[in-house]
Amino acid sequence: MDIDEKLQGFIGYKNSKTNPLDESKEIIDNLSNLYQFKKQVELDNTKDEIYRRISEVFQNKFKIKNFTFFEIDIKKQKMQKVIEIGESLYCHESIKNSPELCRAARTKNDVVSIDFHNSCPYFNKENKFYFCMNIDITKNFYLIVHFVCDTKEELDEIKNKNIFIRSYLKEASPTIEVKLLMNALQESAFTDGLTQLYNRKYLEENLKKLIPQVNRDNKNIALLMLDMDHFKAVNDEYGHDIGDKVLKELSRILQESVRESDILVRYGGEEFIVLLIGIDSEESAMNIAHKIGQKVRENEIDVYAGTTIKKTVSIGLSMYPQDSKLFDTVIKNADIALYEAKSSGRDKVVRFQKEQVTSVELF
Ligand code: GH3
Ligand code: MG
Ligand code: MG
Repeated sequence: MDIDEKLQGFIGYKNSKTNPLDESKEIIDNLSNLYQFKKQVELDNTKDEIYRRISEVFQNKFKIKNFTFFEIDIKKQKMQKVIEIGESLYCHESIKNSPELCRAARTKNDVVSIDFHNSCPYFNKENKFYFCMNIDITKNFYLIVHFVCDTKEELDEIKNKNIFIRSYLKEASPTIEVKLLMNALQESAFTDGLTQLYNRKYLEENLKKLIPQVNRDNKNIALLMLDMDHFKAVNDEYGHDIGDKVLKELSRILQESVRESDILVRYGGEEFIVLLIGIDSEESAMNIAHKIGQKVRENEIDVYAGTTIKKTVSIGLSMYPQDSKLFDTVIKNADIALYEAKSSGRDKVVRFQKEQVTSVELF
């Protein structure tokens, strides 16, 4: 590509200025805009803010109407839509969990629709044109920008401005990387190392956002507090490693028993909290709690060659906001119900009742 062509891409359109002074002014304007953009991005708080800022530039400066941003996380094998503007989502569903199918991500080359045959087999719309570009944020994390055009002329415009468009993405890329690292750090501070569930700190932080949201949407939360029965005996008899294995098995069962939007927390050593967000009724919550109890009861855990053990859990259940508008009280209530489950024989689910407050405090 010769310098003229590069400049043309950078200016954004074919240079019509015959006067070299005008041309220089235009280049300086564009550089200054790009510099301002970079400064703003550096002050943005989250990845989403940055994505929104880039998408505003695409709409307002480049007049592009339809595009989608995807994040590709190679380690998690996930492709996730993060921005969608206009009608631009025609990628096949199957690439979501197989990001290696995304041609732009795999080849690191721009993928552009061409006449007569389809360069990307996962673009599902005839009579539309596309231009996909890949930006490596880190070795294992890419941003894919997928533009969709109604006409060939629109596509040509994007092709012409490609270098300039890319320069905005490149300027934003280091700050996106910083946000990614910050998110990862935060995630590790909020995650329990043994089970990979959230920890107590996460619960405390998250409740500040979760409760107002649940109140706004007029939803319920069912809170299950679980405690492994006679867990100490596992450690004593088989050692801590097997104890750890039993805890991991319990967290696997919990993960398999609730929805992705529910929240699982390792609250203490062998004590867990499950928040069923937006559950329709107390009965549904009881059913889920019983299902968990049953799965744990039936689950066989290998302790050493040829020997398996089975464990049980006790569960206390309380409801927000039915039991109390104070979430701390709802946690305490579940704990009281759990205590009741333990003292009345273990391996059971107990729904918190108001009368339990006085009966427990008697001791
Ligand atoms: P109960 O039925 O009354 O709940 O009896 P329990 O034995 O389960 O209860 P207790 O509170 O007496 O014992 C809990 C044990 O959990 C004690 C502690 O050593 C063990 N523990 C806590 N965290 C871990 C862990 O991360 N790994 C292992 N292996 N054990 C743990
Ligand atoms: Mg305990
Ligand atoms: Mg226990």
